[in-house]
Amino acid sequence: MERGTLEQISDGKIYDINDMVEAGTGGCNGCSACCHSVGDLVILTPFDVHTISTHQGQSFDELLDVSIELREKNKIFLPHLKMQGDKERCSFLNEEGRCSIHPARPNICRLFPLGRIYEKDSFKYFLQLGSCPKPKLSKVQVREWIDITDYDQNKALILAWHGFIKALTFRLKFVRDEQELGQINAYLLDTFYRIPLEEQQDFYTVFFKHLPEAKNHLGII
Ligand code: SF4
Ligand code: SF4
Repeated sequence: MERGTLEQISDGKIYDINDMVEAGTGGCNGCSACCHSVGDLVILTPFDVHTISTHQGQSFDELLDVSIELREKNKIFLPHLKMQGDKERCSFLNEEGRCSIHPARPNICRLFPLGRIYEKDSFKYFLQLGSCPKPKLSKVQVREWIDITDYDQNKALILAWHGFIKALTFRLKFVRDEQELGQINAYLLDTFYRIPLEEQQDFYTVFFKHLPEAKNHLGII
C-alpha cells in the first residue's frame, strides 16, 4: 500500500493490534455488501485453507472449484474465494446473507473494514473509509475485531507467506517455460495447501518446517 493512496482512502491513522478503531459494525444486520465481488481480493493463505477445510470437513481438493478457485497473478496460481451467480456472491454466503463459515472465515474477511499495511518486516492496520455502508461504526479494539487465536503465530505465518510469495514472484520473472511454471505451481499447492496433518500436529509447526525446504527447492532466498 502506497502512503499517498493510504491518505486518500483512510482516516490517515495507522493502528496496531491493541489500538481502538471505529470499525465495529455491530453484527452487520443482514448486510452482506463486502461478501460480493471479492474473488480477486480474498487470496487464501495456507492457514485460511486449513481452517476452512477443518471447519467444513472437506479437503483442499473437495473445496476446489466448488467454493474456492485458483486465480493467477504474476504466474502464480493461488486459491481465492469462489464467487457465484450474476451478483457474484461468495460461495460461503448463506441464504440469510450470513457467512456460513464465520468462525473459520479467512483472515482478510476478519479484517474488513480494516486493511493491512506492510512496513519493513511487519504490518499494521488502517481503516478503509467509506468501504462499509453502515453509517456509524463503533469503537472496537483491533485485536477483538480480528478475533483470531494465537495472534502472534498467525501474524508470523502471514509475514512469512507474504515474503515467500514476493520472493517467488521475483524468481518467476525469469521463468518462461510453461512446463516448469506448471511444475512450480503444482509443487506450491502440494507443499502448502495439501499439508497432511497427523493427529495432534499443529499447522504452524508443519508450515514452518516446510517453508525453508520449499525455499531451497525453489531456489529462493
Ligand atoms: S459491508 Fe459492513 S455492514 Fe456490510 S457486511 Fe460488510 S462489514 Fe458488515
Ligand atoms: S468467507 Fe464469509 S465473510 Fe468472507 S466473503 Fe465469504 S461469506 Fe463473506
